[in-house]
Amino acid sequence: MSERIGVTILGSTGSIGVSTLDVLQRHADRFRVVALTANRNVESLLQQCLTHEPDFAVMADPVAAERLHDRLRAVDRPVEVLAGAAGLERVAALPEVDQVMAAIVGAAGLLPTLAAARARKRVLLANKEALVMAGPLFMATVRERGAELLPIDSEHNAVFQCLPPEFSTAGLAAVGVRRILLTGSGGPFRVTPLERLPDVTPEQACAHPNWSMGRKISVDSATMMNKGLEVIEAHWLFDAPPEQIEVVVHPRSVIHSMVEYEDGSVLAQLGNPDMRTPIAHALAWPRRMDSGVAFLDFARLGRLEFEAPDFARFPCLRLAFAALVRGGTTPAILNAANEVAVQAFLERRIRFTDIAVVVEHVLERVSGHEADALAGILDDDARARAVARDWIAARAAEV
Ligand code: NAD
Ligand code: MG
Repeated sequence: MSERIGVTILGSTGSIGVSTLDVLQRHADRFRVVALTANRNVESLLQQCLTHEPDFAVMADPVAAERLHDRLRAVDRPVEVLAGAAGLERVAALPEVDQVMAAIVGAAGLLPTLAAARARKRVLLANKEALVMAGPLFMATVRERGAELLPIDSEHNAVFQCLPPEFSTAGLAAVGVRRILLTGSGGPFRVTPLERLPDVTPEQACAHPNWSMGRKISVDSATMMNKGLEVIEAHWLFDAPPEQIEVVVHPRSVIHSMVEYEDGSVLAQLGNPDMRTPIAHALAWPRRMDSGVAFLDFARLGRLEFEAPDFARFPCLRLAFAALVRGGTTPAILNAANEVAVQAFLERRIRFTDIAVVVEHVLERVSGHEADALAGILDDDARARAVARDWIAARAAEV
């Protein structure tokens, strides 16, 4: 048998991580799981280790790592357990690893994802926040090191599939692209009366009509900050100016995104809303393989509808576009403020509509810089978090 492709999954216990393991298990003859990682969920990572037999398991939390180590020893499994940021970066860069699924949520994913790019891996990028924070630096690292970057986010994976291969060297203009059209469902509150939005609960926000996802991205979908982050992600992945990226609301999530060409052609990628399709696409690229996703039945699909995004209902989308235009570390500041605000909303410390208020407040108070050095980006990220936390604490004191 020829050598199997070695895979590390950063964030294997999450929604994307579990879908990735599902796809890999269908192709165990071609892929080998080298390392799995999680934040602090010992039980989930233990079960994954027993099923998928990786060489390494990493827990970001050192106490959880100790517990996982003891549990694995008790059942006599020879998995090497590592801890913390250093452990994550190590398994992203191991020589026996060919592909790294970057599926940690939020800014915590940046350093290990960068480590994978530095080590010239095929990076399967789900962790959009890494690119939003450090777009220029990340893309330069991919280019200079000769890493491979394949988008997992369904919209960007769709755009990638609708572009000819030459785009990556020649650029969008040379291949005749006019616009990139990112579709978005509009989330669970697309038609909720505006006056009810302040009182929606985390449970309602996390009940996405089409996709089953982690809690943070679910809330981002409900505010449409997710689409805003995806606009910034598309800017970096495809080297597209902001005015060439448009958002189209498409409630059914069957068209995952589109590319419009100069001659009036529009290419779209369709499929059932299941992340195993983009995951299988990126793992197998440039070939194809079975993902386990049900095939589309057009006769039963019915109508596909489209509408323009409502920037008054979804102020986060407007803020994200503005942050992209401002450039530098402003997207990192937007992302940091949003992460803190979403966490506070999930913990019921602020209202749903406060998320955009916090982000706007932070953008007004924290000025950005060039985003060319990691230290500067992390510094602005920290300043933004501090200002967001202050706002939230002041609000809590009022109530
Ligand atoms: P999730 O919350 O379900 O899982 C997150 C994973 O990251 C878990 O394994 C968790 O243990 C790990 N993690 C969390 N905090 C960490 C930390 N501080 N250090 C190390 N590990 C940590 O999230 P998800 O829905 O799988 O999303 C993961 C990423 O993929 C996000 O960036 C999201 O925007 C992106 N994405 C997700 C989907 C989806 O359908 N779920 C679609 C497109 C993009
Ligand atoms: Mg997406």
